[in-house]
Amino acid sequence: MARIHNFSAGPGVLPEVALRQAQADLWDVADTGIGVLEHSHRGKAFDAIHQRAKQRVGRLLGLDDDQAVLFLQGGARGQFFQWPMNALRGGRAAYLETGHWSKLAIDDAKRYGTVDVPFSSKQTGYDRVPEQGEWGELHEDTLYLHYTSNNTIYGSEYHYVPDAGRAWLTCDMSSDFLSRPVDATRFAFLYAGAQKNVGPAGVTVVVIRKSILDRLDPELPAVLRYGKQVEKDSMLNTPCTFGIYMIDQVCRWLEEDVGGVAAMEKRNKAKADMLYAEIDRSGFWKAPVAKSSRSRMNVVFRAPNADLDAVFVKDATAAGMSGLKGHRETGGLRASLYNALPEASVQALVSFMREFERTKG
Ligand code: PMP
Repeated sequence: MARIHNFSAGPGVLPEVALRQAQADLWDVADTGIGVLEHSHRGKAFDAIHQRAKQRVGRLLGLDDDQAVLFLQGGARGQFFQWPMNALRGGRAAYLETGHWSKLAIDDAKRYGTVDVPFSSKQTGYDRVPEQGEWGELHEDTLYLHYTSNNTIYGSEYHYVPDAGRAWLTCDMSSDFLSRPVDATRFAFLYAGAQKNVGPAGVTVVVIRKSILDRLDPELPAVLRYGKQVEKDSMLNTPCTFGIYMIDQVCRWLEEDVGGVAAMEKRNKAKADMLYAEIDRSGFWKAPVAKSSRSRMNVVFRAPNADLDAVFVKDATAAGMSGLKGHRETGGLRASLYNALPEASVQALVSFMREFERTKG
């Protein structure tokens, strides 16, 4: 069967070249006579894959020598508690609340210390992210500032890196990871569930500054201690080997075929601009997010009423376009335009929207 247009919010579309390579490598990877799922995580063949994946992530993010890349399990939500559990230790942190996932991160952090929320767009339906500095002065004891760079459900995104002052800068980059250049050296800690832009579900990319490891709780169980994970190079126990393998394949595509994150950003901007232009063209479609906060990864919009949204999803599915239903928390429609989504998929969606408006408007 031919593949269809996949606008899923995650797990989402992956590059064709990475999937085809994986098909071959499941049977026999790197001429070892063993498939990639069947290799020991401690063997030479897998070690080469792991080191390459780590180096690619480091190069794409432009990390410095003090920053370690880890491949952990437990999803991005695992990091909602693991980070404050390690770092907070009864202290104080600030969280910017811009949607469902940042709210859940706040709830988990509260278990480990005092959490200030100096900015929230909850009252206006999470329709935007703050302007730089809008959250005011952080309390002088603030250990770290946490934000969610892209709000997958509400469709908003920061188009700048927040200034955390003297506090450590930390970020959930799950849904716009490696979609554009970011000065990653500014971060003490960042993380991303792989299943949107860099791989399959089951592996979480974590980047942590080695120079802060001795400030973290030394009494935690080993798997939960970043210091131990860095010391063991993510191999404390069996990692998600297939996830790490796919990250290597996807990052190979991103580095060598696309040409890096700056080239990726150009493609992503072109895709998002095309879709927002259609949404704004006639007044038929509505996009609830403030223009300056619009996400290039998750475009949230709606038809004039909920019944038409439902018809749209049904008809789009019949026309070979999947994953367009909005999250149950927001209703409406959402098109996720992750790195691997071809421009042709957005063109198909825009043509379909025009026809829908012509016949139903
Ligand atoms: N943060 C963001 C921004 C997300 O989009 C998601 C998942 N959609 C999560 C966290 C939770 O990720 P996981 O399912 O890997 O725990």
